[in-house]
Amino acid sequence: MLACIADRQPKADIAWGLPHAIREAASGFEFDTLRRLPRSEWASVLASSGHRLASEMERLLPAAIRHIRDTYGGDASRIWANGSSGAAVARRFLAFDGVGPKIANMAVNILIRDFDIELAAPMPDIAVDTHVLRVFERLGLLDRLEHSQLRSTRDKQGLRLPLRARELSPEWPGELDWPAWFVGRTWCHAGRPPECDVCYMRSVCPRDGVL
Ligand code: SF4
Repeated sequence: MLACIADRQPKADIAWGLPHAIREAASGFEFDTLRRLPRSEWASVLASSGHRLASEMERLLPAAIRHIRDTYGGDASRIWANGSSGAAVARRFLAFDGVGPKIANMAVNILIRDFDIELAAPMPDIAVDTHVLRVFERLGLLDRLEHSQLRSTRDKQGLRLPLRARELSPEWPGELDWPAWFVGRTWCHAGRPPECDVCYMRSVCPRDGVL
């Protein structure tokens, strides 16, 4: 939960290393230990983490601990209690301060994919992310919009992506999240030419929009 909240703007490795740094600083990771962690400790861990939004995280991470205490009795796993649907869990994640739709969907997709948490339908959407958008576009899965009068083209593509993922993978749209993100981060670069020669998708990719 803490890493998901922190997974904004910094490199993902910084966000996902943060819980370990907090455990080291607090000498434990039990809920009561985190709840009692003084503000100065949060500040010190975050200041040395390299997180670009360290001061915002100083507020958001303790607020998440309080939300888990007040709403889930100090047991974060109750967010994804047995029998919950993916959509319901995403909605519960959204209730945390600092969590938007991207992080909420990403968090639930991670629970299912990496922690084997079984959730009922409806399942979570794809997380709208810059790598995922770029890969969908270049793979020809999301028609390119050259302009849009009512919203920015980027915003509109961000709205179209989850709809397209639902069309392609109706049982679990968010399943497309990780593979697309991985291709985008590994080979399908934004600021430099993509490495199509070594990309897993090279045999099927039309390379839409790639010069
Ligand atoms: S083949 Fe090239 S353009 Fe297509 S997804 Fe891979 S890196 Fe991107």
